[in-house]
Amino acid sequence: MSWLRLYLDFVVFAFGAVIGSFLNVCVHRMPLEESIVTPPSHCPHCNERIRWVDNIPLVSYLALRGKCRHCGAKISPRYFLVELLTALLFLLMWLKLTEWDRPLVHGIYFLKAPIYWMVIAGLIVATFIDFEHYIIPNEITFGGLIVGLLLSAIYPPLMDADTIKSSLLRSLLGAVVGGLSLLTVAVVGKLIFRKEAMGMGDVKLLAAIGAFFGWQSTLFTILVSSLLGGMVGVVLVLGRRKGWESRIPYGPYIAFGAVLWMFCGHEIVNWYLSFIRG
Ligand SMILES: [Zn+2]
Repeated sequence: MSWLRLYLDFVVFAFGAVIGSFLNVCVHRMPLEESIVTPPSHCPHCNERIRWVDNIPLVSYLALRGKCRHCGAKISPRYFLVELLTALLFLLMWLKLTEWDRPLVHGIYFLKAPIYWMVIAGLIVATFIDFEHYIIPNEITFGGLIVGLLLSAIYPPLMDADTIKSSLLRSLLGAVVGGLSLLTVAVVGKLIFRKEAMGMGDVKLLAAIGAFFGWQSTLFTILVSSLLGGMVGVVLVLGRRKGWESRIPYGPYIAFGAVLWMFCGHEIVNWYLSFIRG
């Protein structure tokens, strides 16, 4: 472990916090169809513009104790949470892709970091918008699908492929398998339960995930998200926080499944296969 290594790790964490701060803006403004670039941040309560010193990721929220400096209105803890989550996931992904005992620039995997960070960022925005509004914006889902296909064409190692053609084919297959399998679940669910089990946003989100990580990732994500979503749903109903008929956003569970795949999907699948083979 060198000082350079430690320094770079810190830079990645800080970078993640800055991106997280921007993601908060996306979460707040995207569902309202507002621009995510202008105007500058302002307090939703008193409309006072937030000065840069009160807009430092993670630090300012703690320094202000979660209150607007001007009017004292409470700032949602979501702001701090999203910044911390983004910073931590960026750092962990960076550590995984570069690994401590390897030279820092270890061939081609090093280049995956910015792509994986971008996917993590999109999934965080999708999660928090879905929690609040029960929608996932097309910018994330459809945009992610296009970007995933494009990046697979430009950078075949993303799909563990050698040629552009096979990379693009794997990406397309991933998008189709992801979209169709969740669409099937949605249609069957609607026939059985006679209500909207999940939205088209979820279907498109999984298609986008498939475009980035291939078809295996989509089946893994469906399995993990339905197990986790089912468990959380049962706990909420038993705790009488929700009724059986109430709506539970599914996007966050898809996002969790996809992030788990990015970090250790292959390891989990291999462990499972060796387990059932005895
Ligand atoms: Zn205020």
